[in-house]
Amino acid sequence: MAYLQFLGAAGTVTGSKHLINTSSDLSGKRGLQVLIDCGLFQGKKGWRLRNWQDTPVPAREIDAVVLTHAHLDHCGWIPRLVKEGFKGRIYATPSTIDLCSVILPDSGHLQEEEARFHNKRGTSQHDPALPLYTLQEAEDCLHLFQPVEFGQIKELGPEISFRFVHAGHILGSCMVELFLRQNGREHKSVFTGDIGRVPENPDAPGRVVHAGPEAGEDAEMLVMESTYGNREHPHEDVRPQLARLISDTVHRGGSVVVPAFAVERTQKFLFLLKQLMEENAIPRVPVFVDSPMAIKAVEIYLKYTDEFNEEARQLVKKFGSPLEWPGFTFASKQEDSMKINEQHYPCIIVSSSGMVAGGRVLHHLMHRLPDPRNQVIFIGFQAPGTRGAIIKSGAKSVRIFSEEIYIRAHVAALEQFSDHADTAELLRWLRTFKSPPRTTYLVHGEPEATSRLRYAIMSELGWEVEVAEWLQKVPLV
Ligand SMILES: [Zn+2]
Repeated sequence: MAYLQFLGAAGTVTGSKHLINTSSDLSGKRGLQVLIDCGLFQGKKGWRLRNWQDTPVPAREIDAVVLTHAHLDHCGWIPRLVKEGFKGRIYATPSTIDLCSVILPDSGHLQEEEARFHNKRGTSQHDPALPLYTLQEAEDCLHLFQPVEFGQIKELGPEISFRFVHAGHILGSCMVELFLRQNGREHKSVFTGDIGRVPENPDAPGRVVHAGPEAGEDAEMLVMESTYGNREHPHEDVRPQLARLISDTVHRGGSVVVPAFAVERTQKFLFLLKQLMEENAIPRVPVFVDSPMAIKAVEIYLKYTDEFNEEARQLVKKFGSPLEWPGFTFASKQEDSMKINEQHYPCIIVSSSGMVAGGRVLHHLMHRLPDPRNQVIFIGFQAPGTRGAIIKSGAKSVRIFSEEIYIRAHVAALEQFSDHADTAELLRWLRTFKSPPRTTYLVHGEPEATSRLRYAIMSELGWEVEVAEWLQKVPLV
């Protein structure tokens, strides 16, 4: 009997890993073993420690990885899997592969930096502290990736094949339709990965958004994310609010610092700034994009504009490449980054990391937080415990590079930028199903969000819904 085992993103939002085994019994290796997503656990220490545990089946016995998208909580464990002995293929869309070739080496670099930090401070139980994987190890696994276009059926063996369909979450993101042929019948399961905003949604005027998840699915089993299972995103146009924040800051002689993830979020935000400047809704102050990954990511974005919705495609067509906009400077070298700190006139600085966990944004905040003329604008999720969450909460100070930095700058958070469907949108997407799945398993959510979404689906649609548990095995047919 073929089964599915939840190896991550069960009871939490990170570490997505779902193992398919086409074996005829529950003892393990016999059939084909396929991992859908291979994500890093992030956030609380208890979860992060799981990154150091082996998979329940030896990595060398896993035959293939099928990847939904390039976020680290879905792809960031791949170099570790390869380090443990995985030798199979990693299937992903071409744009996901391009993004992984930027994101995975950067993750290896951060792992090395973290190990160095612990060794310097003596703050690890291990001597020496080692990285989960290195930049080199991340680069070495890129040759295992094999592109599969959206809509193309890919055979993995006589019993099993899959197809990628659009998820509309970030560039390259897809759902996996898995087809299992057993006992003369074909059984279809759908793994959603992360689900983007639902199309025709008026939430995002002027923003760069993807075309949304594919409507009209059908599946015997649905494995679905539940990140915002208890949330409604704000629905108003973000532009007037953003324009007011920027204009007020410039008028009082201050600068704006925007912590943002270098890939996707930064590119989308730049198009919004450009648009506001062209409409004369904000003053034309210099914009600095300070993130080594952002330049590479811009190029990848412009290569795959067909994945955006029509309005976003028109925006890209109208304004062209952000790398060529006058007044927008991309800092690739450390020296360029330091020069931004010497800038005494109002400017806008977009820099990573988005949750202020590390990266160049630390320097900018260290310089700009103590001055009440300045403004910090958060445009992404701030996980509890991160510096971003502390600054956003209205704290009077925050620790950066072992120094207590006073927060006198204005702080705002714009929640409209989410790339995840909220509860109402998830239900709207489920209503497009041709028939209800036999079972729906909810993954990728904090327990409260998952249980609220389970209740909403059961009461509004009458479907059978279960909450996935870590290491739980469930039959696939
Ligand atoms: Zn994601």
